[in-house]
Amino acid sequence: MVNSADTLAKLFRIDRECRHLEHALAALQWDQETNLPPKGVEDRSEQLAMLEGISHERLIAGETGRLLESLESTSENPRGDEGLPDIDRDFLRVLRRKYDKAVKLPADFVTAAARAEGLSQAAWSQARKNNDFASFLPHLETMIEFSRKKAEYWGFGGQNGDRAALYDGLLDIYEPGMPAPEIDTVFLPLRDRLVTLLKKIKLCPPPDTSFLSQPFDAERQARLNRRLMDYLGFDRRRGRLDISAHPFTTTLGSDDVRITTRYFQNNLLSGVFSVIHESGHAFYEMGFPPELRGTSLADGASMAFHESQSRFWENVIGRSRPFWEGFFPILKDGFPDQLKAVDSETFYRAVNLVKPANIRVDADEVSYALHIILRFELEKRLISGELSAEKLPEVWRQYTQEYLGLESDTDADGALQDVHWSQGSFGYFPSYALGNLYGLQIRKAILKDIPDFESHVARGDFGAIRAWLGDHVYRWGCRLAPAELLFKITGEKLSVIPFLEYIEAKYTELYGL
Ligand code: ZN
Repeated sequence: MVNSADTLAKLFRIDRECRHLEHALAALQWDQETNLPPKGVEDRSEQLAMLEGISHERLIAGETGRLLESLESTSENPRGDEGLPDIDRDFLRVLRRKYDKAVKLPADFVTAAARAEGLSQAAWSQARKNNDFASFLPHLETMIEFSRKKAEYWGFGGQNGDRAALYDGLLDIYEPGMPAPEIDTVFLPLRDRLVTLLKKIKLCPPPDTSFLSQPFDAERQARLNRRLMDYLGFDRRRGRLDISAHPFTTTLGSDDVRITTRYFQNNLLSGVFSVIHESGHAFYEMGFPPELRGTSLADGASMAFHESQSRFWENVIGRSRPFWEGFFPILKDGFPDQLKAVDSETFYRAVNLVKPANIRVDADEVSYALHIILRFELEKRLISGELSAEKLPEVWRQYTQEYLGLESDTDADGALQDVHWSQGSFGYFPSYALGNLYGLQIRKAILKDIPDFESHVARGDFGAIRAWLGDHVYRWGCRLAPAELLFKITGEKLSVIPFLEYIEAKYTELYGL
């Protein structure tokens, strides 16, 4: 007879140690992105690799597997002993999943993949700079091969080498339980409706954005963005804002969640919307309840759930008319010369300019999902072998024309523009667009409980909204699988309708369609 309280305590201790190591890694990575002098990179890479190794070892040590099994948690029955409280069973499920993902990959495979990824990313960076897809091609092929192999080790694709199912194994890393055919059911209608909407918008005169092309001093932007964080209710005793080349959020502890942004003198909006986006991620990370703290359950339900939170703040709140009614006076106070002739309505229209372009990260709310669907379609075919890596640039151009109505001029701004595939991260992209869909399903649910949502936003009073998100989203951490959590919050399965209704209504009004 096993003493389950004892066994659980041991598993929680292992998990806690791994979390501490992850947070220590996060601190070193954060420092690397924000403060590290250039020559410090080499030592830092070794430190990171060593800590990663220790953390991995700690997790996959034989003890973890034995303890999980003694509580009846197996790959087939991850939640283990039915007599245990729900929260402990959820913990077992999450730990079993982490353990399986780690232990099923042979050590020599992990080492070889890490080395190949390093080389591939370096080659990509050069190739992008030189607009030279051919030099990256062999690395891309290697990354595809490693990714297929990884999915196979995890048990996807079966003995018959079903390569389409291998892609499901990669999706499962980011969005557990969401295979490609299910994503197809929402992405196909989404693509068709957005392509139509975009065509209509293109025929309309664009809003005035001329005042945005003035210089906006970076120091002043930094001051303004700190005011913006306070305005949103970001508790700066539990986090901070710094500058990095690419904006990100990282968690160093339950009460230490850091965000970054960047400032371009000629692009005021880039800094502002990064801060709102990353604050949305940070609110999620700060909002896990006390009983989950310090455990693996204190995490987002999935990559798409995390994106649902950042995009909810960035788009649903940050790109709304009531938000700019409230915040524009503060912005204007920061830049009185540049914005003296502008009012909040003009500014609201300018931040919602729809202008399809080749680069995904600069995309507006209407074309963004099309960039994602394009990548989803292509990576699915790359993994299945239906599309050869060699043909990628050509097919990329063809899809860009079909979806966005654009001629893409270079591979650097085409198939080479994102870092993801060079790191072997296939299956990651869909979470960005799924996050938009979840976010709008969540908005629909909030509106039922807070019918005067917009007036809260206009007053800059986000307390009730954050409390609602806390009660319905944050409190679960990653206790539930994404589909289960979505159903619990909204009473609905994954649906494209709330997003389409929102986006069509908003842009029909904005552009007078
Ligand atoms: Zn994000």
